Amino acid sequence: MSTSFLSVTDLTVDFHTEDGVVHAVDKLSFEVEKGTTLGIVGESGSGKSVTNLAVLGLHNPETAKISGRIDFDGTDLLGAPRSAMEKLRGNRIAMIFQDPLTSLSPYHTVGVQISEVYRRHTGASKAAARDRAIEMLGRVGIPQPKTRVDEYPHQFSGGMRQRAMIAMALVCDPGLLIADEPTTALDVTVQAQILDLLRDLQDQFGTAIILITHDLGVVAHNAHNVLVMYAGRAVERGTVREVLRSPRHPYTWGLLGSMPSLRRPVDVPLEPVRGTPPSMINVPSGCPFHPRCDYAELAGREVCAGERPELSPPRGHADACYLTPTQKTESLAAKSRTAKEAR
Ligand code: SF4
Repeated sequence: MSTSFLSVTDLTVDFHTEDGVVHAVDKLSFEVEKGTTLGIVGESGSGKSVTNLAVLGLHNPETAKISGRIDFDGTDLLGAPRSAMEKLRGNRIAMIFQDPLTSLSPYHTVGVQISEVYRRHTGASKAAARDRAIEMLGRVGIPQPKTRVDEYPHQFSGGMRQRAMIAMALVCDPGLLIADEPTTALDVTVQAQILDLLRDLQDQFGTAIILITHDLGVVAHNAHNVLVMYAGRAVERGTVREVLRSPRHPYTWGLLGSMPSLRRPVDVPLEPVRGTPPSMINVPSGCPFHPRCDYAELAGREVCAGERPELSPPRGHADACYLTPTQKTESLAAKSRTAKEAR
């Protein structure tokens, strides 16, 4: 068993639907240490959110078939009884979602909603829980928390609601915080403030964070490690520096090429990843990226469409691609030459 704070090993999540079996996550492994942030990136449908709902034990066992292992601070989450998961959720593992309006109840004040989470997990009195809610609202930067604690979510701006949701997620000092696209719905200034806030809170409390995003720019500034997912699988993993400075997988190259940058001249267009994400019912054989990959000829199309490439090496900066190290280095160098010439 791994000694990491959170260790996910060979996680597989299938959903049985009328159209067939959706292979949402396929033998995914990763680790997160205390006080660090893992950014999970990939297009919609790559399995990012399904993975994290599995960590939280939120899938319906009647429709989702889950296998593998999820160890959290010594507890096997997949083997844990429902009651144990309910105790962990909101207490030691918390989640913030993209849209606070769908997560906060419009019928209760922000203070009541934060207090309730605290009372449920600690058994604190109403008065103590209210004091705690005020403290948390202040901690996440809500002005006049003693007044705002009695307001309803619709009386808060979008950024304030997101802060309130972070206050609710952190009220029990969780060891692990899962943030699913926490800033997508916010404007850029508020986005930066919320991400700064998460970093400050991590520095104070040593919280481990999983930051789910489609935006490598957000990962660059806010994560320590990164996992790139495609079709429910990990295709590249490493520190942010390794993956963003020396990316090895053609899909990561594609994500980076489609990222806006201040250094890109306005007349040089972004290069979106060619094609569309695959069906998760009929996942392409071998490397699932092969129908969209510009390097499959170089690696050998039959090889790419044959066996599934595994993430290697087992530790450190790793990728799942059949190109040789020399082919990767030369292809990346050629890509950056072309990009420089276009400037
Ligand atoms: Fe492209 Fe083949 Fe590498 Fe997959 S294994 S990313 S298809 S070169």
